[in-house]
Amino acid sequence: MPAKNKAVFLDRDGVLNREMGDYVCHFEDFHLLDNFEALKTLQDKGYLLIVATNQGGLAKGWYSEDELAKMHRHLKEQYNKHGVEITDIFYCPHHPDFTGDCDCRKPKPGLLLQGIEKYNIDPAKSYFIGDRERDVEAGTAAGVKGILVDSNQPLSEVLNLIE
Ligand SMILES: [Zn+2]
Repeated sequence: MPAKNKAVFLDRDGVLNREMGDYVCHFEDFHLLDNFEALKTLQDKGYLLIVATNQGGLAKGWYSEDELAKMHRHLKEQYNKHGVEITDIFYCPHHPDFTGDCDCRKPKPGLLLQGIEKYNIDPAKSYFIGDRERDVEAGTAAGVKGILVDSNQPLSEVLNLIE
């Protein structure tokens, strides 16, 4: 059987782009943080880089799937320019007040489980970096190690926590 992949899952807001309150609703407010080198280091160590983000603003109608897709295209393009491949971006479009419960809104592990399944990932060798307790909870529930960072903290500061 082929060896399983390992991954570093990443929260989006506050980890890859600047935290801007509850949601980033407009492309103009989507500002990437300079974590290019840090993620290149992880990629070079053989980790897939996969984003897992709650986007309850979709359920609230605060922005559209098109607007979100534009942000995510930009995210991937900018990382590509720095030699970093973002393997995939999983997002939860739900919000309990608007669409009811779901299995993917963090702290539920659904987004991570989707990634683990789709990319044949070994959770025991994988991590989830997020800036909220719910990220760590989702990671733990999916069997990956959670790493809590401060919002907008440079990821270079936590690289030593990843083997
Ligand atoms: Zn969901």
